Amino acid sequence: MIPVSLQKCLSQTIVSQLKYYESIGSTNDEALAWIDAEAQDFSLVIADEQTKGRGRFDRHWVTRPGSSLAFTLILKPRANERDMIPLFSPLCGIAVREAVEICLGTAVEIKWPNDVLINRKKFCGILVEASWREGDLAGVVLGIGINISRGSVPPLEFQQFPATSLEDETSRSIDRYEILKNVLLSLEHWRAKLGTSEFMKTWEDHLAFVGEQVRIEHSEKPSIIGKIKGINTQGNLVLVLDDGQEMSFEIGDVHLRPSTSTDLGGPNAG
Ligand code: ATP
Repeated sequence: MIPVSLQKCLSQTIVSQLKYYESIGSTNDEALAWIDAEAQDFSLVIADEQTKGRGRFDRHWVTRPGSSLAFTLILKPRANERDMIPLFSPLCGIAVREAVEICLGTAVEIKWPNDVLINRKKFCGILVEASWREGDLAGVVLGIGINISRGSVPPLEFQQFPATSLEDETSRSIDRYEILKNVLLSLEHWRAKLGTSEFMKTWEDHLAFVGEQVRIEHSEKPSIIGKIKGINTQGNLVLVLDDGQEMSFEIGDVHLRPSTSTDLGGPNAG
């Protein structure tokens, strides 16, 4: 049964269709299947628990019942959005950041390209996937997982980057559907500005580790260390290396770590 508080929050958004699950494998998988069955723009899949939640590169995203917010929003890109697919991922980061700041009044940063941090710890993961039909873009799914209370945070050995929950960082009790409503409202707002200079500036203004030394890890190439300068017009991360040379990185198989971070293990660490 759909919780009444969820229905109430969604009535204040433009969500067109809803699928709610107490437990599901992955909300992204369900949303991708729903696109094939003709879901409308701004349809939402939400679950209290995901047993096979996915992050980038098929890494597991932990979603525990009662303590996390896990949902996937389906967008049917308009003609002018079709060549901006890589920006849907930062769109989610910008929207989550804004929503959490509005709801909790706490400073929130975006770890390029799209992880969302509070006090330099990750509380939100984002996975955007496109669905193609006979070479044509059928839809885009925006998968967002937010750690609300302590029970949502995976054990230390599972964290590739320090993790936290919103309640841990604010010592407040949080209504997860209020956060959801604000994320959806911000997504609608920033979607209309996708790729504009205001969009890129907002992303850059809230970037974590600017001016600080970071390490860019790649699964198949040596790591590169440099100071973050910002992002360029394509949304690539620009680093200044020790010799003053600038280098940019596309969103792809790269991971950003503070260069002083403790190695938490995992396939891409170190
Ligand atoms: P990075 O670039 O920092 O490596 P990523 O964007 O590739 O991150 P995601 O796809 O967002 O990573 O998420 C997958 C990773 O997030 C997992 O490998 C795991 O370490 C971590 N993780 C999984 N569940 C959670 C959670 N609930 N909270 C915080 N971190 C999590």
